[in-house]
Amino acid sequence: MKAARISLPDGRELPYILKRSARRSIGLRISQDGLSITIPLRATLADAERAILQKLDWILPRLHTRQVAESPALRAGPPPSCLGDRVVLASGAGRTRLQEGLLHLATTDDADMAVALTRFMKRHAAEYLPARVAFWSERMGLHPAKVGLSSARRRWGSCAAHGGIRLNWRLMQAPPAVIDYVVIHELAHLAELNHSPRFWRVVAAHCPDWKLQRDWLKRHSTQLLGW
Ligand SMILES: [Zn+2]
Repeated sequence: MKAARISLPDGRELPYILKRSARRSIGLRISQDGLSITIPLRATLADAERAILQKLDWILPRLHTRQVAESPALRAGPPPSCLGDRVVLASGAGRTRLQEGLLHLATTDDADMAVALTRFMKRHAAEYLPARVAFWSERMGLHPAKVGLSSARRRWGSCAAHGGIRLNWRLMQAPPAVIDYVVIHELAHLAELNHSPRFWRVVAAHCPDWKLQRDWLKRHSTQLLGW
């Protein structure tokens, strides 16, 4: 077993651990200690390096994911999710994108991961939430004067007396049915600016399982609003 380094095409150096064993094929592994590669007894260092370079697309996101797990800013928070699905963070991408459960963030600095994640969520929210408001507005016949995003730490949405609705961008972590409940809830306030039985009847007409969604939010609020 020996510690080695390889120069990547982008000029960075990637440390790895080289092991030899009686196995016939080359094996790559990512663990707490980073990348390790096991090569057959007769294989050369060049063989190892070639295998690493061929598998960079597989190695780099996973390696960064490990580093995120050790990033204090994100370790403190819950595992990130988007529309209710868990996502695994990967840094070092050219541009931020969500692909098959892997959220590639355009940052190489792990301290910036929380910032990049926030930026992604806000941008996603700015498209998704107004679209859901438009969808439900049409069905409920209730049209807000304005739709805005909020960063409140204590509430998911609000509806002002002048008819402006604000939705928390952190909602983007929740499942779509939960987001729709919050949208319906705030729109219903355009008809009833209180939480009277009449208000809940408006909500129930469009979201029959509103209690289920509300309970989900109650259970997860501390976690989802906390970062
Ligand atoms: Zn309310």
